[in-house]
Amino acid sequence: MIPGPFSYHRLATLADAVKLLSTLGDEARPLAGGHSLIPMMKLRLATPEHLVDLHGIAGLKGIRRDGNNIVIGAMTTQHELLGSEEIANSLPILHETALLIADPQVRYRGTIGGNVANGDPGNDMPALMMTLGASFQLEGASGSRQVAASEFYQGAYFTALEPGEILTAISIPVPAAGHGYAYEKLKRKVGDYATAAAAVVLTMSGGKVETCAIGLTNVHETPLLAADAAKAVIGTNLDQAALKNAASAAEAIMSPAADARGPVEYRKHVGGVMVMRALQRAASRAR
Ligand SMILES: Cc1cc2nc3c(=O)[nH]c(=O)nc-3n(C[C@H](O)[C@H](O)[C@H](O)COP(=O)(O)OP(=O)(O)OC[C@H]3O[C@@H](n4cnc5c(N)ncnc54)[C@H](O)[C@@H]3O)c2cc1C
Repeated sequence: MIPGPFSYHRLATLADAVKLLSTLGDEARPLAGGHSLIPMMKLRLATPEHLVDLHGIAGLKGIRRDGNNIVIGAMTTQHELLGSEEIANSLPILHETALLIADPQVRYRGTIGGNVANGDPGNDMPALMMTLGASFQLEGASGSRQVAASEFYQGAYFTALEPGEILTAISIPVPAAGHGYAYEKLKRKVGDYATAAAAVVLTMSGGKVETCAIGLTNVHETPLLAADAAKAVIGTNLDQAALKNAASAAEAIMSPAADARGPVEYRKHVGGVMVMRALQRAASRAR
């Protein structure tokens, strides 16, 4: 329960933080809200020798509109997402998902940047970011680059982030007006990670699904985009057959771990149920 020894650094500029992280290499980790990293350090599952705290760096916080995108600074907390009118109006599924993360104490400190950079398959934001077609702005010693959320996750706790790189912002295209949305999360109790969860964003026209994206949380070592499941409902009125086809297509790409949240078959089954519920609720909200 006590972390190993580490040096703590708090820098005032992004350039200084990038420089220090690049110099220290694999021995250093950025520190955001600390609500994933510090528990891992207490369990000695992470043993960084240096923590570079990002809290002193101006410009890493905030929510702004840039044309048809919402740009969110990496150090924006989940609590701040919940308080944002821009998010409630333009990206209501992000509001809904943030509310399902942990509890108020965790949400006061935990940041959206830490949630997506962490690489834990149990984090809720990554699958949502993939569903929304988001991209991540990364800043490193060799400059800045933008990586699509759909290409960011490579394995459990393994992402496209190079050692020394800092995720500075997340850019999310605003979904079409009148879109339907839902994040369905099955958890054992309030404050728990998902046994399985599904994000759906869709548009309807004439009672039929016109466009659809489906993301899956905690049913694989990375978040998943369920492209075949989405395809299975396009052009349908989401009747029982279409819902079941989507659930089967989603289950076909799931490979959850058997753990305290249940055996593999159970987690795949409830993953399919989450997909069906999210599709139905999203359709009921579409205009
Ligand atoms: C009791 C409890 C329940 C929880 N339940 C849930 C849940 O249901 N769903 C959920 O999604 N999460 C849950 N969490 C995790 C929580 O949301 C974390 O806050 C989040 O995963 C990490 O964000 P953070 O700001 O705390 O990051 P930190 O813990 O500081 O960092 C996490 C990792 O990301 C790296 N990192 C952080 N910021 C950056 C950056 N800007 N650039 C590059 N790397 C960075 C760090 O080096 C570290 O490796 C829970 C946590 C607790 C303690």
